[in-house]
Order: sequence, then structure tokens, then C-alpha cells
Amino acid sequence: MRYLSTRDKNVSLSGAEAIAMGLSRDGGLLTPEMIPEIDEKFLLALSGLSYPERAAKVMALYLTDYTEDELLNFAREAYGPDGFDDTRAAPAREVDKNLYCLELWHGPTSAFKDMALQMLPRLLSAALKKTGESRTACILVATSGDTGKAAMEGFADVDQTKIFVFYPKDGVSKIQELQMVTQAGQNVGVCAVKGNFDDAQTGVKQIFSDVNIREILNKRGYFLSSANSINWGRILPQLVYYFSAYCDLLRENKIKIGEKINICVPTGNFGDILAAWYAKQMGLPVGKLICASNRNDVLTEFIKTGVYNRDREFYTTMSPSMDILISSNLERLLYHLSGENDMEVRAYMRELSESGKYEIQKDLKSKLQAEFWGGYCDEAGTSQTIGDYWKKYHYLIDTHTAVAANVLEQYREATGDDHIAVFASTASPYKFCGSVLNAIGENPDGDGVELLEKLYQVSGVKIPARLADLKNKTRRFDLTAEKSDMDKIVLDFLK
Ligand SMILES: *Cc1c(COP(=O)(O)O)cnc(C)c1O
Repeated sequence: MRYLSTRDKNVSLSGAEAIAMGLSRDGGLLTPEMIPEIDEKFLLALSGLSYPERAAKVMALYLTDYTEDELLNFAREAYGPDGFDDTRAAPAREVDKNLYCLELWHGPTSAFKDMALQMLPRLLSAALKKTGESRTACILVATSGDTGKAAMEGFADVDQTKIFVFYPKDGVSKIQELQMVTQAGQNVGVCAVKGNFDDAQTGVKQIFSDVNIREILNKRGYFLSSANSINWGRILPQLVYYFSAYCDLLRENKIKIGEKINICVPTGNFGDILAAWYAKQMGLPVGKLICASNRNDVLTEFIKTGVYNRDREFYTTMSPSMDILISSNLERLLYHLSGENDMEVRAYMRELSESGKYEIQKDLKSKLQAEFWGGYCDEAGTSQTIGDYWKKYHYLIDTHTAVAANVLEQYREATGDDHIAVFASTASPYKFCGSVLNAIGENPDGDGVELLEKLYQVSGVKIPARLADLKNKTRRFDLTAEKSDMDKIVLDFLK
């Protein structure tokens, strides 16, 4: 399988090369040249397997330059008991009739990013060997909160890698910040940026495309790579849990083979829901893909109108990992839906960077709408849903998960389609204690660690062990920078 740039199909790389590089030099996203198909036999076989075995089977279809055994070893390490507190890795919890919540936060940092970021460092280390790379990979990350921590945790002390993370100074929760600034490891660094997530992401993209910086780093024995979901090695492990959820429902006789399920995903950079789309394209029986946004509703509007317009007010919300106006992975979807038309994608992306918006052509828009339904949920709705879930189901969900639960409900009301549906739960409620406490009618005052304890006392739900352990950690990093200085900070880190 080859990986092609969405902006120039002449750029063609192996899986290992694509993972090592992260982003194509032309700014395009490295994307599989074709989407492999599976059949019912494949799904039935998968149903009898463990999560790591499922992961190896699905990923082997794309990473043809890795062996299935190699992938299985990685998956066993990645999703094993050292990091995950549930042997099923991503259990689907029955909330109500025809309503399932796919819990993706049982990993070491309590966010769904672990599902990919426990796997990516292993894929990348192997990629360096496979491609004969002798330089050190420096992973540069812009984070809205969860990716940064999950990436640092995944890459900490991994040979031949360094990792540096930028996060928006006032855009992450107290617990998220604490998780990052206390990260252990000789090869890690982190810095707050005065700005929002898009500023941080734009800064990182600029560093990536800066020929000068690349030259300097090359002389020092480094090259830059990415752990953001622009890296195919981030998207691929995320396909697995949609297969796995389907297989679990099959195994428990909740569905019959071939029966379609709807999937609702709380969306920011469009990575997680794109993974669900790939799974559907491969033949997983999926009906509608429901794209849930918070008050930053750029994707809702896009799905409705075909116009992507990032020129709008940016809101800081209680679901910060979705406070994004430029959803990078949409580019991969447009590439596939346009029939792998790299010129068309390149034109849209140029319009986006020059004028802040683009409009897709009619044919593309109808393809988009056939697959996706988009909706958004404001702050009051998010809070309300957390409270309702607690009262009605005695189930504590985080702010991002609440956005998905709310939008799924909207979808059902708007369309009457109350078919069996799975919505993704992307973070533990303990990562957003203040908002969650507030939503269930409790006083949210207190610092990060105090609030963990408070939420525990009120809910009786177990605190994830590593979050409980934060109170014993010391702060290692204390760096804040203007967005215009991000390049200097990186050069300083890679002395
Ligand atoms: C990253 C993240 C999201 C958004 O996922 P994308 O792949 O960027 O769409 C949603 N919820 C949480 C908790 C996240 O960390």
C-alpha cells in the first residue's frame, strides 16, 4: 500500500515513510492510495478475537510493509494492563435501549488520544529502522489539551525520538495542564502559547514548512515529525475501535451480522470521525455518521451548506479539545470523496488559506451529506446533558462526550432514525472536573487535584489511578511564549 499526498498524487510513500514523515512536504496529508475491503467473514472472525488481535488484523490491511506479527506485538504492548485499566481496551457500555457509549478513555492519560498514541511511537520506531533513518525524530505537537499529554506519555524515553508540545495558555483544563507540566522523560518538553489552539497549530505547521529550520535541524541530526492526527499513524489505530465495538455488539447478540449501526463522534480536527468513515468505506455496516460539534460549529455549517468558513468568532468552551476552526483531516475526506482529485483539494486548501473559506462543488456536497449528519451543542446544552445522564442513567460523562450524546439526540429527533447507535466517549469525566461538578449541581470551586477528590465524593465513580497520582507529582516545566517565538523555542529545545 502506498500513501499519496492529498495535494499532489505524485508524492508516493510507503507506510513506514508516511508515518516517519507525518505530513507531506507540500502541506498535503499522506493518505492511502486505496481503501481495502472486508467482508462478513472477516467481521465474524474478528469477533472472536481480543482487542490487540483485532487491531493487528485491521491495521495489517493498510500497513503492508509491517508484518501482522509485528503489529500484534505492538498492540499487545500498547493496549496491555500497564497502560489500560480495562482488558477490552475500548468497551461499549449499554446506556439505554439502542444506545451505546464507546468508552475510549481507559488508557494512561484518560483521553481517547491514547488509543492511537500508545501505538504511534511503536509504529514510528519501527519505521525509523525500516527506512534506515539515522537522525532523531523530533515530534512537534500542537494540542488542545489531550493530544499533548497522550503524545508525551507515548513517546517518553522512546529511543531516537524527542517530543515538544505547544498548548494554548488559557485553552486547557487545570488537570490537563498539570498532566503535561509534570510529564516524566528525558526527551520531552512543553510550552504554553499566548493564543488559541489554531494559533498553536498554525505555528507548528509553519515550522514544518520552514526550509531554513529544516536545514538547521538536519545539520544537528534531527528531522521533524508529527503526532497530530495529520499523521496516518494516528488515524489508523482509531479505525480499530469502531470494528471492535461492532464485534462486541455482535458477540453479545445485540445486532445481527450485516445490521447497520449509526455512529456519533464529538469532533474537533475531524480525525476520530474520519476513522469511522474509513471503517464504513471498508465495509463495516454503518448507517449515518453523526458529526457533533460544540459552539464552534464550523463543521455543522459545512455539512449543511457545503461552505467551509473559518472566518468566524472563536469560542473557548468547556469542551476545549473541540475548540477548533480548522479541521485538518477534512482534507483526507475531500480527497476521497472527489475521486482522489488532488488538484481540486489543493485549490480548496489554497482558498482556505488565502480567503478563509471555500465552497465544495455540488456533486461533492451531496456525497458528503449522504454519509454525514452534522449538529452542534452549546454550553448550556452540554451542561444539561451531563446532568441528565447523571440523573437518568447514573452515568457520569465528560463535556466532550456530552456534546456527542446531545447531538445524537438531536439527530434522532430531527430524522426519526432511532436505530441502534454508538456514540464515542472521548475523555474521562475526571479530566474536566469543574465543568462536570457544575453540571451535576455541585460547587466547582477548587484547584485541579482538589476537584478530583470532590467529584469522587459526590459520584462514587473511581478516579483513574494516574490522575489520582497527580498530587504526588512535581512541576517540571514552566515555559510560556508568544506565538511568534515558537520557532525559537523549538531550535532552543533541539540544541
Ligand atoms: C481530540 C479530542 C476530540 C476531537 O477529536 P478529533 O479527532 O480531533 O476530531 C474530542 N474529544 C476529546 C476529549 C479529545 O481529546
